[in-house]
Amino acid sequence: MAARTVALLLALFVVAASPVQGEVRHRITARLDPAGHRLEATDRITGLTSPHLALLLAPTLAVAAVEGAASWRRDPSGPLLLDGPGGEVVVRYAGTLFDPPRPSGHIRFVAGDATGGTISPEGVFLDGGSGWYPDPGGMALFDLDIHLPEPFVAVSQGRLAGRDGSQSQWRATLPADGLTVVAAPFHPFHGRAGAIDLTCYLMRDDPATAKLFLDAAAGYLATLQARLGEYPYPRFDIVENFFSSGYGMPGFTLLGPQVIAMGEQALKPGYLDHEITHNWWGNGVFVDPHGGNWCEGLTSYCANYLAAEGEGEEAAEEARTRWSARFCLDLPAGHAYPLRRFRTKSTRTDDAIGYAKGAALFHQVRRRLGDDRFFAALRGFAHDYLGRQASWDEIEATFAHAGGEPLASLFRPWLDELGGPEVRIERAEAVAGEGGYHLRAAIVQTPPVYPLDVEVAVETTAGEVTVCRRMAGERLDLDLVLAPLPRRLRVDPHHHLFRHLTFAEVAPSLDALLARGPIFYVVAEGDLGVYRDLAEMAQREHGGKIITSAELPAVGGASVWLLGRAAVAPEAAPLLAGHPPDLAITPTTVRLGEVVSDAATAILATWPRPGDPGRFAGLYWGASEAALARAPYCFYYGADSAIRFAHGRPAARLRWPASVDPLAVAVEALR
Ligand SMILES: [Zn+2]
Repeated sequence: MAARTVALLLALFVVAASPVQGEVRHRITARLDPAGHRLEATDRITGLTSPHLALLLAPTLAVAAVEGAASWRRDPSGPLLLDGPGGEVVVRYAGTLFDPPRPSGHIRFVAGDATGGTISPEGVFLDGGSGWYPDPGGMALFDLDIHLPEPFVAVSQGRLAGRDGSQSQWRATLPADGLTVVAAPFHPFHGRAGAIDLTCYLMRDDPATAKLFLDAAAGYLATLQARLGEYPYPRFDIVENFFSSGYGMPGFTLLGPQVIAMGEQALKPGYLDHEITHNWWGNGVFVDPHGGNWCEGLTSYCANYLAAEGEGEEAAEEARTRWSARFCLDLPAGHAYPLRRFRTKSTRTDDAIGYAKGAALFHQVRRRLGDDRFFAALRGFAHDYLGRQASWDEIEATFAHAGGEPLASLFRPWLDELGGPEVRIERAEAVAGEGGYHLRAAIVQTPPVYPLDVEVAVETTAGEVTVCRRMAGERLDLDLVLAPLPRRLRVDPHHHLFRHLTFAEVAPSLDALLARGPIFYVVAEGDLGVYRDLAEMAQREHGGKIITSAELPAVGGASVWLLGRAAVAPEAAPLLAGHPPDLAITPTTVRLGEVVSDAATAILATWPRPGDPGRFAGLYWGASEAALARAPYCFYYGADSAIRFAHGRPAARLRWPASVDPLAVAVEALR
């Protein structure tokens, strides 16, 4: 899910130490020995103009010779320091790179396994941040000739200029902020999308799976080019990684083996299309490491969100609601930071800020500009900044130009404040008068103020009236004259506003239940081991306490997850009192919606705890051991209120309302 750019912090250090101007070009010849974890390489670098340079290079790589510089030495921490580089600097170096991927250990996908770059018999992964070539920082063109033993097949950036067995040549088509090369004993499968060469590199000889991914990529490329303009590269490759990842590189994506194994499931919008979209945002226009990472918010908006819009208004509204929910649930107190400071994702907090709040900002900009100007501005931005770095400042300037008005007041709070808009209705009253009823209402924001385009719906005795208003300050006064009697006022009825919600304003879900302590996991004595395993998984990541049903009556203000038989124990009855009518529980069956459980059914459901706003109760229950076969995956469905699994696969998903909605009130009728 991440655009794998150079390790930004490291790049910051190097760039700050050695400003580079002009067009830098690397011509790298590398020979890799996976069994010995070894690399032997020559990098011919042109375009270095600064008299003193610090080039990032992994400390395990020894420099044998440098030609074309007045002098050189190694910094003890690794960087290669050059004085007086000439027109071409040639660096010959060799050594080992072996940092086996460390599993992320999260119960849901947050970020892939971590490695600083590795050469191994399982596979090769070397990216810009791993220091596998001498990197002065900033943008550069990369040509690569790579030699590996059979049966390794390498994939890198740029145009594939030639391949002969395990040797291949790659030529730059655009500058990039780093060079990634991966290799494994791949089976390549080819396809096309118009002028774009497609290749799917799999670990197995599996043409059926390859065809699925190639066809999906062709479909997504057509949709995305219509939306964002021409795809920036001559090729797009789908590459199976040898560890868990979801990376987008210029011209290819590196997907974990679990994702490839999902087949059709992995091709639903939000995964492959997200990585393809990074070829515009992050790997086409690159992120300026000094100006904040805007590319995940924009990629999430253009891929994940617009795909939901394509499904229909209900899916789009749900996607918008989830931005606010994630921002509430995944921001533990004291962990918030401004969107402008988002760099890369390693936690769910980073996801809530860089992806959710970032995407929501682009939605507000689109609401301000209108669709035509918004998408024209995006296509112009891709065109104007292709192969260059851009920051939030350039994005703001692009949209301000397209909209014909300054947008600083819109961008500043979104980028620099910690939270999000906090909006509520202060009053809503109707007075009978000339021509009908005067509806007077006040909508207020807690400072800091976010300029908002607010939709207001008034339910009257003769249908609904909708108006749109711009809220530029802390207060928006409405004064409407309506012929029929207004009964109810709803602000933002379709959830276009990203808001800083309280827990009570979030729709119930397992994610909401697990987001805040205290949490109790209830497992009945003698129940199936799978329930205790689940409780322990959740406890490791979210804290809380595992208890038995007998201890339940002593639990005070807390969220409670009932597992297995604990859900039907008599002690659970007070918790079940608040669950929605969609859910019905007997000692032997659970009904969700119209469907009563059979032997293959498992149910995951969460609802607000009665009388305790902001706390949740939930259950996970399976009718048989077979129904629970895929139990650990239930955490992946943590955003839903209720879900019915058949044979471990989701068969129905429901979303229930939050216990509190400060943006819907009854209109008070005054005489
Ligand atoms: Zn991403």
